[in-house]
Amino acid sequence: MNKPSTTTGTDWNALDNSSFRATVREFFETRYPKDLRYPKRRLRWAEIRDWYLTLSQKGWVAPSWPSSYGGMGLSPEKLIIFIEEQERWGVGRAPDMGITMVGPLLIHHGNDAQRADYLPKILAGEHIWCQGYSEPNSGSDLASLRTEAVADGEHFIVNGQKTWTTLAQDATHIFLLVRTDKQAKKQQGISFLLADMKTPGISVRPIRNIAGSEDFCEVFLENVRVPRANIVGELNKGWTIAKALLGFERIFLGSPKQSQYALARVQEAAQRLGLFQDTGFVDRYTKLALDVADLGALYGRFIEQVKRGETLGPDVSMLKLFATETYSRLADLLVDIAGSSGGMPGDIALPGGKTDVLTTFYNARPATIYGGSNEVQRNILAASVLQLPS
Ligand SMILES: Cc1cc2nc3c(=O)[nH]c(=O)nc-3n(C[C@H](O)[C@H](O)[C@H](O)COP(=O)(O)OP(=O)(O)OC[C@H]3O[C@@H](n4cnc5c(N)ncnc54)[C@H](O)[C@@H]3O)c2cc1C
Repeated sequence: MNKPSTTTGTDWNALDNSSFRATVREFFETRYPKDLRYPKRRLRWAEIRDWYLTLSQKGWVAPSWPSSYGGMGLSPEKLIIFIEEQERWGVGRAPDMGITMVGPLLIHHGNDAQRADYLPKILAGEHIWCQGYSEPNSGSDLASLRTEAVADGEHFIVNGQKTWTTLAQDATHIFLLVRTDKQAKKQQGISFLLADMKTPGISVRPIRNIAGSEDFCEVFLENVRVPRANIVGELNKGWTIAKALLGFERIFLGSPKQSQYALARVQEAAQRLGLFQDTGFVDRYTKLALDVADLGALYGRFIEQVKRGETLGPDVSMLKLFATETYSRLADLLVDIAGSSGGMPGDIALPGGKTDVLTTFYNARPATIYGGSNEVQRNILAASVLQLPS
């Protein structure tokens, strides 16, 4: 077991914002490994484990959890500062499904035994969770999922397949959406089930992406016996719980940081290539620079709403769209200005030094898919904001 945290019990919300920001900044700047700043791909558990444990010992691994459960108990305003400082310093994302999804889920919908069993192990970095929602042919239309759990005494027998499961190869546990009533209407026969990845019948096959890294996996479930006690909330009510998980943290998909960083890289490369003499380039660059400024303002507007404790409406889909598509356009521009070298992986030689353009391009593409694809976000805006006929 990891050592107990050193700062549990501190009332961070009592600090003024600038002192809190300075405290967090100082910690990240002095303790986060410099060679892991701004990682180009998702870091594997073996690479980021020490940092996770450092946060755990500090009592900072679960900033949004209530302090009574070992979190920092941050208010939305303080949580935003914490995340801004992480982004600013280029802190890599650890496998955090336990912190961002399973923990809050158990706190709100689990029972005492589940909370006692799982929460301390998430905090200590003993349990690493992955998210088993998507299936082949059930992504955007998630409620059509077919992985089935059939009751058998004190167990469920689970059969099916999950896919695009981020870092399943590093996970010790998986949270699953499974069909427990085939007769019920689509959304109603689904339950939320927790499973140990070591259970016989679970196998994992990593998927290699176009950039050559294995960020996600297929997970096969064949006659997997899962205790009934691992159902979270009520049987057949898993859909409601899964939806509740899409809380305000979705706003962070709309953070302008990635685009601001990409714009700075475009500017730097263009200067070295003398492209600010080219009016065609200047036109494209200026439009994007203005989009990045607009994105910052739009993000600021939603952040203010969160700080006031208001629930975000369906219009937050606009932020996800604008953030991910601005980032994609910047990634395209970076590839374009690298000319014939733009398709080369890794560092390429440009006048004045080396730069990597393709990684930005590869990072920008999936952002338009996860967290609800951009087409689906457009449907939400059309139906719920513009109230267009379907
Ligand atoms: C990097 C990454 C990590 C991921 N990690 C996880 C994970 O850890 N766990 C997990 O469960 N899933 C994960 N996913 C899966 C993700 O949730 C799905 O990819 C997403 O929900 C889309 O589903 P799909 O891939 O099946 O595409 P589909 O739903 O089949 O969509 C294919 C295309 O059709 C469009 N489309 C679909 N429905 C509509 C519609 N009604 N109207 C208009 N257009 C539509 C989509 O926008 C898309 O362009 C991850 C995905 C990515 C890219």
